[in-house]
Amino acid sequence: MAKRYVGIDLGGTNLKLGLVSAAGEVLASHSVPTEADRGPAHVLSRMAAAVGDLCAKAGLRAADAAAVGVGSPGPVDTARGVVLQTPNMAGWKNVPVTAVLRKKLRRPVRLENDANAAAYGEFRCGAARGTSDMFLLTLGTGIGGGIVLGGRLFRGTSDTGAELGHIIIQGGGRVCGCGNRGCLEAYASATAVVERFRQEAGVIANRNEFSCKDIFDAAAQGQGIARRIVAETADYLAVGITSLLHVLNPEMVVLTGGMMGAGKPFLDRIRRGVREMAFPSASRACRICWSTLGGDAGIIGAALAAEALDRTGRPA
Ligand SMILES: [Zn+2]
Repeated sequence: MAKRYVGIDLGGTNLKLGLVSAAGEVLASHSVPTEADRGPAHVLSRMAAAVGDLCAKAGLRAADAAAVGVGSPGPVDTARGVVLQTPNMAGWKNVPVTAVLRKKLRRPVRLENDANAAAYGEFRCGAARGTSDMFLLTLGTGIGGGIVLGGRLFRGTSDTGAELGHIIIQGGGRVCGCGNRGCLEAYASATAVVERFRQEAGVIANRNEFSCKDIFDAAAQGQGIARRIVAETADYLAVGITSLLHVLNPEMVVLTGGMMGAGKPFLDRIRRGVREMAFPSASRACRICWSTLGGDAGIIGAALAAEALDRTGRPA
């Protein structure tokens, strides 16, 4: 039988799993609430059980999976398979994810940062298939990043590379969730879009009363402040992407996350901004696209990171 891999996207709200072929096809999928408030040991037990349930959907046992890949938020130590900390799950500090899952499942387990996994998924079988140098930005509650160089994931010296949401685009600027000021995430994440709109419009409403999507919808209908906020968001992203183009000179930039709903006009404004600012030789060589795997990129990338290790004996 062709080898099957399990990819797990560890989220603060849900555990999303996919049974994935070596070519990146999702053969079965499964999702359960993370129940993160009950602590890491509980979540790891749920993950192991969910792998069994996922495989059962495809008429297999967990033992039939060749390997398991996990994409986790927060800084991770991929060599040791340890989640160092996650900003949105209490008690997740130095959690030995691969050791625990390996013991429970008796399968090889590979841990990656979740945005790195998503980048690897897009590189192997999504929008960036066929390229060798690319990076991805996940535009959601925060901004995550992943970089592939020369066909391999770039993690940096201590797995802290590719934190693209925290490149500083405005020294001394807006306060970011990471504690610094002026990070790209503090301007262009969905959370930041809502905050900037509230400040601009003088809205003193509860933060949950409207979402980033509401602001994009209002902009599409011509509402003045919303239009300006959305346009400025594209411009901030263009600034960040231009800086990254000048460092990496990639063939492709893939954008994913909830902001994909903003559609082509938003993407076109980002492209225009980059074209105006970047060295022509860099911008001409680079395509900026929406993700094609969407919400599955993390699952597929985690599974294929496990596949790459299984096949080659070295990390993706
Ligand atoms: Zn930051």
